[in-house]
Amino acid sequence: SVPFEIERARADFPVLQQEVHGKPLVYLDNAATMQKPRQVTEAIDHYYRWDNANIHRAVHQLSERATQAYEAARNKVQHFINAARREEIVFVRGTTEAINLVAQSFGRSRLQAGDEILLSHMEHHSNIVPWQLLCEQTGAVLKVVPIDDTGELLLDEYERCLSPRTRLVAMVHASNVLGTINPAQKIIELAHARGIPVLLDGAQTVPHMPVDVQELDCDFYAFSAHKMVGPTGIGVLYGKREWLEAMPPYQGGGDMILSVSFDKTLYSDLPYKFEAGTPHIAGAIGLGVAIDYLETLGMENIAAYEQELLNYGTEVLAQVPGLRFIGTAQEKVGVLSFVLEGVHPHDIGTILDHEGIAIRTGHHCAQPVMERFNIPATARASLAFYNTKAEMDVLAAGIKRVGELLG
Ligand code: PMP
Repeated sequence: SVPFEIERARADFPVLQQEVHGKPLVYLDNAATMQKPRQVTEAIDHYYRWDNANIHRAVHQLSERATQAYEAARNKVQHFINAARREEIVFVRGTTEAINLVAQSFGRSRLQAGDEILLSHMEHHSNIVPWQLLCEQTGAVLKVVPIDDTGELLLDEYERCLSPRTRLVAMVHASNVLGTINPAQKIIELAHARGIPVLLDGAQTVPHMPVDVQELDCDFYAFSAHKMVGPTGIGVLYGKREWLEAMPPYQGGGDMILSVSFDKTLYSDLPYKFEAGTPHIAGAIGLGVAIDYLETLGMENIAAYEQELLNYGTEVLAQVPGLRFIGTAQEKVGVLSFVLEGVHPHDIGTILDHEGIAIRTGHHCAQPVMERFNIPATARASLAFYNTKAEMDVLAAGIKRVGELLG
């Protein structure tokens, strides 16, 4: 049975109560970005209406309120992922910037020619390209752990890839294309046994299941607010204090310094060392409210409900003639990627849009996954707690009609 909180949550999302092309909107592109509850948009509106000021630098009332709200959001993030210290939470633009920060600050200061960075074959481009840039700058090399036909990481291959030259493991916690939830605990244990730090890309996990960075014992963890009912333009880099303290700043500017002279500049303490310039204050406040919202629903409830929805969706889509799933791992988040015999994924997306159904088609910023499965693209329905079984039925019926039309 669906918990009461989840059942009534849909009403908090005005955007879901509209028609598209004369049909009720069925929004199934949550892995790209999630919709926002009114609590989040109202908090952002309230901030700009009543509290807007720059933070940290002024003594006036509005600045104090803005600073207080911004720093309160940091505390919420800390507790949400169970970080040991608030200064381990760095606000960035999103997952992409968090990974670039680690690549340029941690990577550039430590890696040398011949050093290795270990990734998986199911990474999002944002966990590939920053490392390639770093490799060009340092002469380090990428190594890629293969995946099997269901989209699971080959753990024994992973272990074999860990070498005396491996300086960092950077892996996606859950794939945005395949849905695969990687065995993070195991990945980290095996790396730590060899003294290698691990970064996890948590863009698709933090919104969908409880994440505890201390229990995982990961060294870095990256995620985006906009995929967890928060605003765009804000995200989080979690880093263990020892690492962050040892790392040089990523960007220079105001707010990240203690003192500046033309001879010598002293940097601020954590986390401000990594937050140069005026940050996305409203975004951080919105993220804080998004976290409040998710915590009210309960991450355990969200995970359980989405699993139920995933199972149901898998069942009804499997009955569509000619449909083949891409990504059938044992442990998955609510991502249903598929191809349809004789139909280009783009056409599936276009026709479904005319029925009010929003899915994503393409390579999903993970071209190596397409190459691995020998396909140009997939169609992807990605789920959230505000989706329903009835919507899964509408989706399945829509795809079936596409098949009849074009297949
Ligand atoms: N990693 C994964 C697994 C993702 O799904 C995404 C977003 N599609 C990103 C990284 C990048 O996130 P952002 O664009 O918010 O930086």
